Amino acid sequence: GQEQQDGEEYLFKIVLIGDSAVGKSNLLSRFARNEFDSNSKATIGVEFQTQAVEIDGKEVKAQIWDTAGQERFRAVTSAYYRGAVGALVVYDITRRSSFDSVKRWLDELSKINPQWYNHAVHCDTAVARMLVGNKCDLENIRDVSTEEGKSLAEEEGLFFMETSALDATNVQTAFEIVIREIHNNIS
Ligand code: GDP
Ligand code: MG
Repeated sequence: GQEQQDGEEYLFKIVLIGDSAVGKSNLLSRFARNEFDSNSKATIGVEFQTQAVEIDGKEVKAQIWDTAGQERFRAVTSAYYRGAVGALVVYDITRRSSFDSVKRWLDELSKINPQWYNHAVHCDTAVARMLVGNKCDLENIRDVSTEEGKSLAEEEGLFFMETSALDATNVQTAFEIVIREIHNNIS
């Protein structure tokens, strides 16, 4: 990797979680490669993608992990969460069941990742988590209001954003807010 001027190098692990078909893989491909796949199948076969972002003039690298379809079998393993310092918890604004699953995903995340608490103890703020309501291009068939997303995020202490991997709305911003928050927590 590329060294920072002061010799430090940042590489942050961020995990994507949420029900199957909410658009996690497409959010990642939009962010990392500016690509969208309308026929995307469960597995693309990529565990994670590393993406460089500039924060306050420094290059920060995010290693973003995608579940690659494991969520179908509720088989996301502890290795998936291990070492993560950020998470995007994704639901589909057109599918209420995926919104109802958010709390379960948050539970799983906190149970499985003991560093989560350790890290929080050593920092003013907890690890960066963002609630993402994806597919906001499908306004006509929306099933979860923006207000509901916002208030759940407030309740759980998460950032919140509605995105569209299809038309690229807020995708860059969502990842960058999480990466910036991690950077702030650590430095
Ligand atoms: P994952 O299972 O959570 O990784 O979801 P995918 O990224 O595979 O997406 C599931 C389906 O939703 C695919 O058919 C995508 O083309 C579609 N999709 C993903 N993001 C969006 C979006 O922002 N808008 C719309 N309209 N469709 C999307
Ligand atoms: Mg996927």
